[in-house]
Amino acid sequence: MAGIYFHIPFCKRLCNYCDFYRSVKLQLLPQVVEAMRAELAAQTDFLTDHKIRTIYFGGGTPSLLAPHIMQEFVEQVSRQFDCSEVEEVTAELNPDDVTEEYVEALRRTSVNRVSLGVQSLSDAELQFMGRRHSAAQAVQAVRRLQAAGFDNISVDVIFGVDGYGEDVLRQTLEGVIDMGVQHISAYHLTIEEGTSFGRALAKGTMRCVEESRSEAEFALVHQMVTEAGFEHYEVSNFALPGRRSRHNSSYWTGDEYLGIGPGAHSFAGDVRRWCGQRVEEYIGGVEYGSERLSQRDCLNEYLMTSLRRAEGISTALIGERFGEDARRRVERSAEPHLKTGWLIKDGDRLKIPAERFLVSDAVISTLFEV
Ligand code: SF4
Repeated sequence: MAGIYFHIPFCKRLCNYCDFYRSVKLQLLPQVVEAMRAELAAQTDFLTDHKIRTIYFGGGTPSLLAPHIMQEFVEQVSRQFDCSEVEEVTAELNPDDVTEEYVEALRRTSVNRVSLGVQSLSDAELQFMGRRHSAAQAVQAVRRLQAAGFDNISVDVIFGVDGYGEDVLRQTLEGVIDMGVQHISAYHLTIEEGTSFGRALAKGTMRCVEESRSEAEFALVHQMVTEAGFEHYEVSNFALPGRRSRHNSSYWTGDEYLGIGPGAHSFAGDVRRWCGQRVEEYIGGVEYGSERLSQRDCLNEYLMTSLRRAEGISTALIGERFGEDARRRVERSAEPHLKTGWLIKDGDRLKIPAERFLVSDAVISTLFEV
């Protein structure tokens, strides 16, 4: 089963930390929507698996799209592919777009899961990050969605922000847990070049948090959210039972997906493809970059994505897919980490304990085939 991803690359204002591909030229949105319809229409052959399980509207800010436009995309997908078993249709929403009218219209679409960019419940921290909503608006957005009957709600939270310590984080986590949402994604702030924070870091007016603080805050997130009954199923993701993100999970399990829109990526068979164009170029015609993954790339990708998940890797599966030599090599490389507890063995599976996910990359890279 495969997934379809629609990238809506527009934001009303740019957040200080964001380096996603997005534009503030909202006047181009109608033309981009038209171009996305045309791109989708031309993409019946990229996926080898035509049975669609999930559809996802991400961004940027998908809630800049009127709900009926999302529904038109869903209907176009069902004309082109087999949608008889679609399980999840997600839309990312910005809290200040979630008016009563918007929620009412969204409820009439096929969207059955929403992901809300809350980030923090401290107004000072939200302002510092350049978010365009307040804490009260975020709480109100969740309440409106719940009142309308949405029962699969995810919220994003950011931690590791210099100047906003554990007390602010604790208050945010208590708040989102109290909201009664089904899924929480918690990301450590990363400061990238080319963003407002990146420039402040270069000028010395901002700092990254110390590594020990990052680890302490990650431990706090893990502890508070798992104690509230959520499963820590991927480095940044927590879900109540049965409420994992199916769309994102399919990225980590190597399922096929088709991305539509400027900045969207696609994957099928052993081909990874991307459209890296600016919106102005995309309107004039879609151009893709692509690469064919080698067996080594596929193995390393499997190690990277799977060891960041609660299930870890299966050495039996590595033997089947990549050969017995690869299986033996991974098992040998894992031995030192089994002694230190950075990896644990469970049948044929090797896993990183969830409370150590934050520093998992150091372990994973030692298992890579080079
Ligand atoms: S964080 Fe989200 S809302 Fe903010 S600029 Fe990036 S994509 Fe837009």
